[in-house]
Amino acid sequence: MIFLAIALTLASSCTGSSRHSKGKSGDTAAKAQQEAPFYFDDYQDVQLAAAQKWGITPIASRDTDFTKIPQLEKIESCDLYTVEYLSHSVPYLTHHAKALLDTIAKAFQDSLAARHVRIEKIIVTSVTRTMDDVKRLQRVNSNAVSQSSHCYGTTFDIAHNNFYAVNKEGEELPYSEQKLILGHVLYRLRMQHKCWVLVEERQPCFHVTVNY
Ligand SMILES: [Zn+2]
Repeated sequence: MIFLAIALTLASSCTGSSRHSKGKSGDTAAKAQQEAPFYFDDYQDVQLAAAQKWGITPIASRDTDFTKIPQLEKIESCDLYTVEYLSHSVPYLTHHAKALLDTIAKAFQDSLAARHVRIEKIIVTSVTRTMDDVKRLQRVNSNAVSQSSHCYGTTFDIAHNNFYAVNKEGEELPYSEQKLILGHVLYRLRMQHKCWVLVEERQPCFHVTVNY
């Protein structure tokens, strides 16, 4: 078990919730604290600023040749991570965001290897959204904001309730403990200001924006 006391809160969302308040009240906050010992307070304002600083100009629609955008690089399932079916985003990131994703996934697997347990991959659940994707998301989720850090190629979501075993070798660590290990990896990178992180409230994922 990893014991860390870290500053806190949950907030705005992978679906782009507009919540900015740093206060969470009563039972919800207590429950969230119980379930997630890592608390990241990098809200939409922090993440959006980094996205706009380091990212691309938002893309209007998927009717775009993403391979012709030199700042972007395609991400595909590999030995380090699995890219889930993406309903509201496209699998492209800036080069630095992809490098950050690689770093996170590799550090996660290194931590599992150090514990001599089964090696697993993290699962990417959302990547870069076009403006059309954001509009479609707003129709599904009325809380979704029109300006999302996901529009800049800098931001991705990683599931914390699901992992993908590379093979069946070694003891399988419970997902709850893998979540702690992944949280620790993100915490270290976040403290180096390489990224900003939120624990999604409505979806079981970490929302991560590169900060370089
Ligand atoms: Zn997100």
